[in-house]
Amino acid sequence: MTRRAAITGFPVAHSRSPLIHGYWLKHHGIDGTYDRVAVEPATAETFYRAFAKSGLVGCNVTVPHKEVAAACCDELDDAARAMGAANTLWLDDSGRLMGANTDGLGFLGNLDQQAPGWDARTKSALVLGAGGAARAIVWALASRGVEKVLIANRTLSKAQDLADRFAPVAKAVSWDYLADILGRTDLLVNTTSLGMEGQPPLDLDLSPLPVEALVTDIVYAPLVTPLLQAARDRGHPIVDGLGMLLHQAVPGFERWFGVRPEVDDALRRLVLADLGVSP
Ligand code: NAP
Repeated sequence: MTRRAAITGFPVAHSRSPLIHGYWLKHHGIDGTYDRVAVEPATAETFYRAFAKSGLVGCNVTVPHKEVAAACCDELDDAARAMGAANTLWLDDSGRLMGANTDGLGFLGNLDQQAPGWDARTKSALVLGAGGAARAIVWALASRGVEKVLIANRTLSKAQDLADRFAPVAKAVSWDYLADILGRTDLLVNTTSLGMEGQPPLDLDLSPLPVEALVTDIVYAPLVTPLLQAARDRGHPIVDGLGMLLHQAVPGFERWFGVRPEVDDALRRLVLADLGVSP
């Protein structure tokens, strides 16, 4: 029987997930589908609670439903529990709704692929931003054993809330002290929307950053953000954000369709072309 999965959220029209999973379904010749299901906020709780009746074997969850989806699951993995948010759901053999959060795994998978050994070189990370993506990344860095994760955000109170969730590894720092902190940073991560097409660039003087420090930006349109370009010009290793989007999809596909897919160059090119971004 055809196995059906989908991206759920509101809105879902912009999602690249159908393109990614569609590529893997075709590549592996699997009898399955991956569609878009728009779930109006007012009906979200009912939808996830009655998920077993949806006809889907599982789904991805995007904004604004990641928290409500987590609350409706019978069981959560460590990441989803720590974040209070789920982006990947599936029904187990007895019809229980299981939830995972793979955003952090996507971040780690991208760095592992593009900068192998980065974790052995990272004692102190600086995360810029304290939104939903930062939450996943702070979890990921802590789970990988990074000793110190500093969080700076325009709204300091949000950085503080996030740091409290992952204390004692995480600590909030004021944006005003970044020049000092950069000098002791092994990994710099931008999780703010600054640098994205249509947004102002992230205005940060990288000169105090040790030249061997890795710089990564989770914004992927443009692929090389002004921050990544400035880092590259100074000789830093850089990793763009597209791989996070692709790697976060891997565990869901494996759950629903029984094959662990690869993030390969053809998939990167396909998604970049769809985004209208030059490689
Ligand atoms: P979010 O929850 O809305 O958080 C946005 C963050 O950006 C907040 O920390 C916010 O600071 C900061 N910010 C926004 N405008 C700013 C400005 N003008 N100056 C300084 N800081 C500003 O969004 P999100 O879900 O975390 O996503 C953040 C970015 O990551 C987006 O560009 C998104 O496309 C990208 N993303 C990429 C992936 C991937 O797979 N590569 C995955 C998820 C997200 P305040 O708290 O002060 O408002």
